[in-house]
Amino acid sequence: LSFSSLPLPAEQLANLAELGYATMTPVQAASLPAILSGRDVRAKAQTGSGKTAAFGIGLLDKIVPGQYVTQALVLCPTRELADQVSKELRRLARFTQNIKILTLCGGQPIGPQLDSLVHPPHIVVGTPGRIQEHLRKQTLSLDALRILVLDEADRMLDMGFSDDIDEVIRYTPPQRQTLLFSATYPEGIARISARVQQTPLDVEI
Ligand code: AMP
Repeated sequence: LSFSSLPLPAEQLANLAELGYATMTPVQAASLPAILSGRDVRAKAQTGSGKTAAFGIGLLDKIVPGQYVTQALVLCPTRELADQVSKELRRLARFTQNIKILTLCGGQPIGPQLDSLVHPPHIVVGTPGRIQEHLRKQTLSLDALRILVLDEADRMLDMGFSDDIDEVIRYTPPQRQTLLFSATYPEGIARISARVQQTPLDVEI
């Protein structure tokens, strides 16, 4: 199935073609129509499935570049994953000008992060503990958040990030769109989904 079946701007379709993304992967074909329509989605997806582009294309579609506030947040279990996600988002964002993407992870010095937050990024990618720290310090605001992604949610729960995620979510508007991606579905995933999502579409391929 081709990306051109989706309601995406022509510039993004051309960018995807340039990246060599000719057809949608199964998780993209199953989730993107719902994601673009604004619905919450809960998807079982492994690394390599194209999950990053599934939520990345969706969240970039929601960003208003002229509004200099944080509109999307991607929570990841590790810095390595956050770096990979940011890199893929930058490729997917090449069709549009002036989208600022910032990675905020623990184990990194906070000073440069504070400098980068003086002008809020459109998109933040990071680990739950460090995001929570910035929210408590009021160096990051999620008051205008439109879309929240929990990537590799099962690993975040394994690493003990459940309470941090709950706290981060209390700083976001209730009418946000929430996407959850997880390779496995332990009991904890159903519980966190019930807490943070509204009638999600279940995608399992
Ligand atoms: P992920 O599952 O997000 O880690 O993605 C795995 C790899 O597939 C990444 O290198 C992506 O750049 C690539 N990819 C994602 N979507 C597509 C697509 N529709 N066609 C070709 N490659 C893709």
